[in-house]
Order: sequence, then C-alpha cells, then structure tokens
Amino acid sequence: MKTDGRAKPYREPARNLDSRTFDVVVAGAGTAGVVAALAAAREGAKTALVEAKGYPGGVAVEGGTALHSFYNLWKAFPGVQKRQVVRGIPLEIVERLACRGGTTGHAETTVGYDYDSVCTAIDTELYKLVAFEMLDEAGVSIFVNTFLAGAIRERTKLEGVIVESRSGREAFMAKCFVDCTGYGDLAAHAGAEYSEPNDHAVANSIGLAGVSVEEYYDFLTSHDALTEYAQGIRSGVDGRIVRLSGRTAALPAEFAEEAKRIGMATVTTTVHDDYFMFIKLNFGMPVSPTDRDAVTKAEIELRRRQERAVALFRRFVPGCEKAFIARTSPSLCIRRGRLITCDYDITLEDVLEGRHFDDDVMAYGFHDMAPRLQVKNGGTYGIPYKALRVAGVDNLLAAGMLITSDRNAHMSTRNTVCCMGQGQAAGTAAALCAKKACGSRELPYVELREALEAGGVHFDA
Ligand SMILES: Cc1cc2nc3c(=O)[nH]c(=O)nc-3n(C[C@H](O)[C@H](O)[C@H](O)COP(=O)(O)OP(=O)(O)OC[C@H]3O[C@@H](n4cnc5c(N)ncnc54)[C@H](O)[C@@H]3O)c2cc1C
Repeated sequence: MKTDGRAKPYREPARNLDSRTFDVVVAGAGTAGVVAALAAAREGAKTALVEAKGYPGGVAVEGGTALHSFYNLWKAFPGVQKRQVVRGIPLEIVERLACRGGTTGHAETTVGYDYDSVCTAIDTELYKLVAFEMLDEAGVSIFVNTFLAGAIRERTKLEGVIVESRSGREAFMAKCFVDCTGYGDLAAHAGAEYSEPNDHAVANSIGLAGVSVEEYYDFLTSHDALTEYAQGIRSGVDGRIVRLSGRTAALPAEFAEEAKRIGMATVTTTVHDDYFMFIKLNFGMPVSPTDRDAVTKAEIELRRRQERAVALFRRFVPGCEKAFIARTSPSLCIRRGRLITCDYDITLEDVLEGRHFDDDVMAYGFHDMAPRLQVKNGGTYGIPYKALRVAGVDNLLAAGMLITSDRNAHMSTRNTVCCMGQGQAAGTAAALCAKKACGSRELPYVELREALEAGGVHFDA
C-alpha cells in the first residue's frame, strides 16, 4: 500500500479564529470523558465536551466485553464480603441502561470467577444514546465530530484548545482542562511529558449477529474448553447465558490455529439473543499507534481478520452458520498510546498490596491479569488525586488509559470502570478549580473529597 508522497514543508498562514469560553473543557467523550463532563457540569461548571467521533462512549462501546468491575473480587477469596466498590456516576449510567433493557445487570460469574466475580455487559448502541441524554440533561455543551488539534499554553498554564470541525477551526478557552482522549492528545499538544511504550496489540472488535449463544456454549463445553460463564439478563429475561470464554488450545486444531493467526479471542458477552456483542481481533503493531501511516495498514489488516473470524465461526461453531458482522469500530481501538507523566505514577505494588492514599479519589478492586495478579485478599486500592494531575501544567488533569506507566499496574487502572471513576474525580476537581480560580495543585483535598462523596463516590478505606 502506498502512503508516501512527502514534499517540502508548507508554511500555514496565521489567521484569526472564532472562540468560545468555558469553565472546563473535557477532551474526548469516551469511557472517562463522558463521566468527567457529567461531573464537571453537575458541579456547576460551564463545560464543553469535545469528541472526534459522532457519539460518546469510546472503547467502552467499541473494544471490550464487559465493564470491569464495579465489585471487589470477593468470589475468589472465601470469607471476603461482596462490596460494590465503584458507585457514583459510573453506576448511575448502568442503572439508566438497566431501565432501558441495555445491560446484563451485574451478573455473577459461576465459572472463571477468580478473574472477575461479575459480568456487567452493556448494549453498546443504547449506551451512546443514554450518555448523550445524560450529558444534555446536565447542561454540557457537546461538540461531536470535532477534533482537538492543538493547545494554547502560556508558560505553565493552559489557556485554551484548538478544535477542528466542518464548522471550521476554533479556539475553546477555559479555566481548567481534562484530557480524556486515551491517546493523550491534549497533554501532548500542551507540551506535557509522555512515553509511548507500544507494548499492547491494537484491536477492532466485531459484534457478531445470526449466532446461537447456547450452541457456542455447547461447542466450548463439548471440547472441555469453557473457562468463563455467567448468567444474567438477556433480551429482557434473567438467568440466560451472558458471558462465555474458552481455552482456545482445547478447541479443534484448525480453529485454534486460525484464531491464533488472526489474534481472535474466544471471550464474548451479550445483552441480546442471537448476538455476540464483542469478538476481539488483535494485531500487534510494529510502532506506536500514534503513527498514522502504520495505523492505516493496521486498520486494513484488522478488517481482513474480521472476515476470517466470521468464516471461522460459520465453519466450526454449530448455530453460527449464518453469522455476520453487525458492528465494527469506526477506527481501531488501542490499549494504550501515549502515557502522560503525572505528579504520581501508580505502581504495581500499590495495586497488588491494596494501598490507599491520603488523597484518594476512588477505590478499585479489579486486575485484568487475575488470578495471576490480583489485589490482595479481594480488597481494593486507591487512585490518588496526584495521579490525575499532569506534571508541569497548572490546570490540566488526565483520566483514563493514558495514566500509569507500569504495564502491569496499567492492566488494572486502564479498565473501563476505573477510567469512569477517574473521570468523575477529574471532572469534579476541574470544576472546583474553575470555581475557586486556582490551579489543580492548590485545590484543597478536603473540598474535593466532600464533593466526590456528595456525588456518590465510595471510598473503600
Ligand atoms: C480491544 C479492547 C478490549 C478491552 N476490553 C475490556 C473489557 O472487556 N473490560 C474493561 O473494563 N476494559 C477493557 N478494555 C480497556 C478499556 O476499554 C479502555 O482502557 C478504556 O475504555 C479507555 O477509556 P478512555 O476514556 O481512556 O479512552 P476511550 O474510551 O478510548 O476514550 C477516548 C475518546 O477520546 C476521543 N478522542 C481521541 N483523540 C481525540 C481528539 N484529538 N479530539 C477529539 N476526541 C478525541 C476518542 O474518539 C474517544 O471517544 C479493552 C480495551 C481494548 C482496546
């Protein structure tokens, strides 16, 4: 594929931009950004939410199988109490979805519960609408199909951001900013320090329709391959299979070898009959996913893999002979891109030892590598406020997969429910900073904690 055609640099002429003023600008309406904007607006801030795609949701509606996790890992530790660790706005979103038949509920896992004790899966399309409605109700100024293309920085302070849309190029000025772009675009434009480890595969998951959930279960069990199983609400009926995963190596050799070649995971969840919400196709990129030309090649390769995945289901899994792709992500999903340097970098030991900090903004109890790596005794650890403050910039916070440099600590902090909780903390803090006209480091923790508690956040220590 040809991607070159480079020529000498073009000097762009200076021009005046239309501008708007807000208290808080949240960049990225994904998993963390939706919650950040809701939190900021509910705290009274005039809030703008800037999103490149035409809908909110981010990787939560494009990449993964279930929202990990609102609970501690109680089932893996006999005698440990079941605790709903993450509450506040993230839980409210799931409750709103539940009223519309858009979630499995917090379905208890009966096989593979030492990985996650519950499966909370969502209807990805309803999530987009519910998020839009909640943002609108909260009075957030929503700018979708709008790309954040630059930052206006004066010494250590961010004054505004540059956005691009079909309405033109504009400047959005604000008192405080939250980077929830996943890629760390805002922080990078603002000149913050970051690293790009490129140590995870990228993915484009598919929603597979025309399938039989029960027969996929039979397929896995008949090969003694079942590793995860949960029953919850499906097509409005409780007690139905909503999560399945299998040991690929135990499946027929031809299936297993092709699945490996195309980076296909056997795990899936569903909220509807005859549908697998996510089948993940992975691809290890040779360079960072911030490299546009390399991403173009990966996008093409992933779509080839999607077709091969459908063929695999049609051929090997009874009840899936007429399977077809009902949903893809408009662009590939990353597991991490730029990692922004913040005032504190959460360590693996913090996570595994279940450490809490004197500036905790939330608690969390899930690790994506459990049971190999898990929070001690089915407990929780804290995300400290300092882990959300972008180093070297007075009024820029970060929330989501773009924090935490240690790969195995990130395997916990990057999960959806943790990102959502971070979003509530960062959005609340940004609004308070705007109200008090102070920098993120001058905000008294006691005021932040009070506001978070009022917003329903649970502190587990
Ligand atoms: C394939 C895959 C499977 C996963 N599976 C699970 C799972 O099963 N359970 C789980 O809990 N976690 C899972 N994860 C992890 C989790 O989904 C992500 O880490 C998390 O959703 C990231 O949230 P975020 O808010 O940081 O980023 P995102 O949700 O990606 O949000 C970033 C948003 O910013 C927007 N944006 C980016 N740049 C710009 C810009 N310049 N201008 C405007 N907008 C911009 C994007 O369009 C996007 O909407 C998975 C991740 C992947 C990739």
